Amino acid sequence: MWKTRDIWEHFDQGTARDILSIHIPEDDHGDDIEWWPNKNGQFTVKSGYWFLQNGQAEKEPNGSKFWKSWWKANLWPKWKILIWKIIHNAIPTRDNLRHRHIDVPSTCPLCEKFPETPEHLFMKCELAKHLWSASYLGINSDVTGNGKARHWVRNFLSLLMREDKRDASRLVEFVSIIWSIWLARNDAAFNSTKLNPSSIMLTARCWKNRWKKAFEGTSSCEVGYEVLQVSGAPRLVWERGRDAVQVPLIVETDGAWKKLSHASKTKTSAAVGWCFRRGGRTVAVGDAKCFASSPDQSEALAILHAISAVPHGTEDLVISTDSANCVLGCINELSAPSEIQAIIKDIKKKALGFNSCIIQKVSRDSVKRAHILATNARKVP
Ligand SMILES: [Zn+2]
Repeated sequence: MWKTRDIWEHFDQGTARDILSIHIPEDDHGDDIEWWPNKNGQFTVKSGYWFLQNGQAEKEPNGSKFWKSWWKANLWPKWKILIWKIIHNAIPTRDNLRHRHIDVPSTCPLCEKFPETPEHLFMKCELAKHLWSASYLGINSDVTGNGKARHWVRNFLSLLMREDKRDASRLVEFVSIIWSIWLARNDAAFNSTKLNPSSIMLTARCWKNRWKKAFEGTSSCEVGYEVLQVSGAPRLVWERGRDAVQVPLIVETDGAWKKLSHASKTKTSAAVGWCFRRGGRTVAVGDAKCFASSPDQSEALAILHAISAVPHGTEDLVISTDSANCVLGCINELSAPSEIQAIIKDIKKKALGFNSCIIQKVSRDSVKRAHILATNARKVP
C-alpha cells in the first residue's frame, strides 16, 4: 500500500493523485506491479523511494543536483534548453503566449481539438500518447489528475540520469521524443504541416541516430531493428538510420483467399492487393492473382508484392497488414507458419533496402482499399 499521508505531504496535489492512482494489486507478491519509472515496468522499492525523494527535490533551488547533472549531460544544448524551458514553464505553448496577451489561437496545432498547454502537448494529445506508447520506454503519458508536464518531465529525467549513469539510451529516447513533438508542433503551427505519429516517430529515431553519431562515435549505418507494440498490436521497425527522412509512404496490403472445391476448374484461389498513400492521398494501387495455400500466405504475398512495387526514390515506408501472423513472423521467422517463412525472408531483404521500413498490424478496416482490390482480382476468371 502507498503511505498516503506521506505522499500528500511531499507532493503537489496533482502529482500525489497521480501516484495514488497507480493500482497496487491485492495479492501483493513482492515487487510485481506495473511501474513506469522502471525499464521493465516492474516496480521496485528503489524507484518508489526515488519518486518520493525526487518530488521533494522539486523544491530545491536552481543550482540543484538535478540541474548540475542536466547541464553536464552528453546532449545538444538545444535539447537541454528546451527541457529547461519546459521545467520552468517558459515554453511558448499557446496557453503561455495567450497568458502574455499574445494573440494566437488557443487550440493545439497537432490535433486542433484541445487547448494547447504543455500538459496537453507533451502528454495528453492523441499524438503524444501514441508516441510515448510506441517508444520502447512504453510510457503511459495519460496520467490521471492534474499532473504538470514540468514535474512529469523532470521526474523522468531524474530517474533516467540516476539509474542509467553510463548508458544514456533511455535518456536520449525520452528527450528525442519531446524534441520531435516540439518540432512537429512548430511545423504544424507555422507551416500548417500535419504529420502522422509514424513520421514523428521516424523523426525521433533520426534524432537518436544523429545523437549516436555525435556523442557515441559509433557508426549507425548498420541495420538495426526494433520491435514496438502499439496498443497491443505487433509492429516492427527496420531502419538503416541515415539522416534523410521523408514523409513515409503508407503501404496498405491485403490478401484474398478462398478454399476451392474439387469441382472447381480454376486453380487460382488467391489474390493480393495494395495501395500506396502519401499525405492522405492515394498515389498508386496494384493487384495480382497468386497461388496460396492459406490466408496467411496470401497476406504475406500481398506484402511482398507491394514492397516490390514501391516507387523508386522511396526511402521511408510504413506497411500495414491485418495479419498479426505476418508481423510476428517478420519479428521472429521461426514463429511463422512454415508456408510463409520463405516469403518473409524476401520481405526482409527488400525492407532492409530502405532507410526505414515499419511493418504493423492494423484493423481490417484500415486496409479496406487493398481488400477490395484483392477481392476483385481474385474473382476475375
Ligand atoms: Zn493535441
